[in-house]
Order: sequence, then structure tokens, then C-alpha cells
Amino acid sequence: MQSVAREFDALGLAAPQIGIHQRIILLTLQNGREKVFVNPQIVGKSTKVVPSIEGCLSVPALVASVPRHESIRLKAFDYSNGEEILQDFQGDDSFCLQHEIDHLDGVLFLDRVEDKEAIGVSNFLRIRAGERKIVDELVQQSEKLPQTIALTSVISFFLALSISAATN
Ligand SMILES: [Zn+2]
Repeated sequence: MQSVAREFDALGLAAPQIGIHQRIILLTLQNGREKVFVNPQIVGKSTKVVPSIEGCLSVPALVASVPRHESIRLKAFDYSNGEEILQDFQGDDSFCLQHEIDHLDGVLFLDRVEDKEAIGVSNFLRIRAGERKIVDELVQQSEKLPQTIALTSVISFFLALSISAATN
């Protein structure tokens, strides 16, 4: 149960999920720091694979257990300072990175589920808490705005998130 709770506390979003075709991901690490990574690449991974309970903004009503590498080595550019990083991540940070980087390649967590019958349909949006906050804000914004400029507001919102992450 604790691991599920931790998983839902994770924040993650990949730019293509909101129509921005760039290799950019945003996430909140377990230490609470929000990071924006540009062109993230997994350059190493543990042989040990463990189950990760995941949900997703892109398919908000579903939750499932996905096999993920316990740790990964990430190569990316840190959006906040433009510096290239090479860093190891473990546990939930590792799972969240694998999930978001998958989005950049058009892969959903459901594609990685081994037992399709184990996909759960929740009666409420059991998506990652961070992603749900973003969805709520996007919905609020889009309700206030005409459809024609809704996409602009979505992009602006993502950029605002990026800027706030960069100032952390
Ligand atoms: Zn997702």
C-alpha cells in the first residue's frame, strides 16, 4: 500500500501528452525537487525488474502493475541550467522516468503490462496525484476559454511549469 501511495504522489508529464512534440519530460523527484529534462536517454539499467503500480494522464481511468527496471542511469540536459547530467535513479524516481521517457517514444504503460487481465478500471481517476493536479488546472483553464485558444493555454501552462521548475 505504501508503494502505491508513493507512486501516486509522483508527478510526471511528457511534452507529447499535451501536444508538444519535443523530447522534454517534467517530474517531481522523491526528494521533492521538480526537474525538467531535455532529450532524456536511459543509458544503463539494472537487470533487476520489479513491479510498479502506475496510472497515467493519457488513460486516466486505468491502473496496472508494470515491470520496470529497479534502477536506471539517465543522460539528459537539465532545463534549469542547460548542463548535461549523467545520474543514477532508483525506485519510484526510476519508474517515473521510464514511464515518461516511454511517452516520448509513443509507448504507454499499458503496452508494457504482462497480464492484460490485471488492468484495473477505477471508479475515480486514480492517476498520479501530480498529473491529476495538472489535468484539473487544464480543465479549469479550457472551460474558461474558447476552444480555438485552448491549445495555446495548454502550451502556455506547460511552459509556465517549465519556468517554475527552472527557478527551483
Ligand atoms: Zn503517463
